[in-house]
Amino acid sequence: MRGAVLHAPGDVRLEQRDDPTIVEPTDAIIRLSATCICGSDLWPYRGVEHVDRPTPIGHEYVGIVEAVGRDVTTITPGQFVIGSFFASDNTCENCRAGYQTACIQRVPMGAIGTQAELARIPLADGTLVATPDVPPADLIPSFLAASDVLGTGWFAAAAAEVAPGKTVAVVGDGAVGVLAVLAARQFGAERILVMSRHVARQKLALEFGATDIVEERGDEGAARIKDLTDGLGAHSVIEAVGTRESMLQAISATRPGGHVGYVGVTHGDLPGPTLFHSHVHLHGGPAPVRRFLPELIDLIWNRAIDPGKVFDLTLPLDEVAEGYRAMDERRAIKTLLHP
Ligand SMILES: [Zn+2]
Repeated sequence: MRGAVLHAPGDVRLEQRDDPTIVEPTDAIIRLSATCICGSDLWPYRGVEHVDRPTPIGHEYVGIVEAVGRDVTTITPGQFVIGSFFASDNTCENCRAGYQTACIQRVPMGAIGTQAELARIPLADGTLVATPDVPPADLIPSFLAASDVLGTGWFAAAAAEVAPGKTVAVVGDGAVGVLAVLAARQFGAERILVMSRHVARQKLALEFGATDIVEERGDEGAARIKDLTDGLGAHSVIEAVGTRESMLQAISATRPGGHVGYVGVTHGDLPGPTLFHSHVHLHGGPAPVRRFLPELIDLIWNRAIDPGKVFDLTLPLDEVAEGYRAMDERRAIKTLLHP
């Protein structure tokens, strides 16, 4: 099969890789209908995370089941399935508590590399959720969004305790940030303030339900959020970037007693005194997307939401390198790849 391999910063290639096979009796093999490039793939692509040997890459996937191991009971060949970036058994105590990304048997899908034609999915019964039938082609981008960015935005809104009547601020206008806006709208937020300086991203956030755009950043951005909320700050703030600056901006934009839901992959230390004096709740981490998949699949299948609009560049898998360049240079919000 063909699959993307990261060789060094800035150097992604589509190469021949061995076809995956059933290794564990709980595995499935899927043929990808679509895959995509994540903002978090840019960390190793930019050399922020070290890569010391050629490494398969990609962790978002939807596709048709080709084969299952002998212990797989709920997933069958021919089904269209969606999973998220950690395989999980969905039966251990952490999974049952809704934290499948902390599953005691978890397997990171990024190590398998799903920017490829085929992928081995460990713990298939726990990891994969099937749609009611094979979906029409126009729904595939939305199901692919559910594999990570939509589910991550959804978790961020849940972690930030978004609820009817609340004012929400979103730090970050990438795919997760704009889909957190969609989630906040679904959760019934009254006002949704998005911090963004990019016209295309502002437009998408407004389509997904944002009510206000804040262009200021850092301390000025937090001050602007306070101005817009009677000097108090937002009830719920979603942090979807992952830098020290964005996290501090999120904390200072939150009112005392409010909640920060953080899902940007954190690359920076936080000052203890700031945390101590903030009076805010912090909840976040690698999003347990699997918790939300049945609900998200239902909403997409019934066309109640259209998260697939987040993909503003679609390329054949052959052009994976251009997909990375476009996202790295912020020419694209998110790139969908057709194997
Ligand atoms: Zn588990």
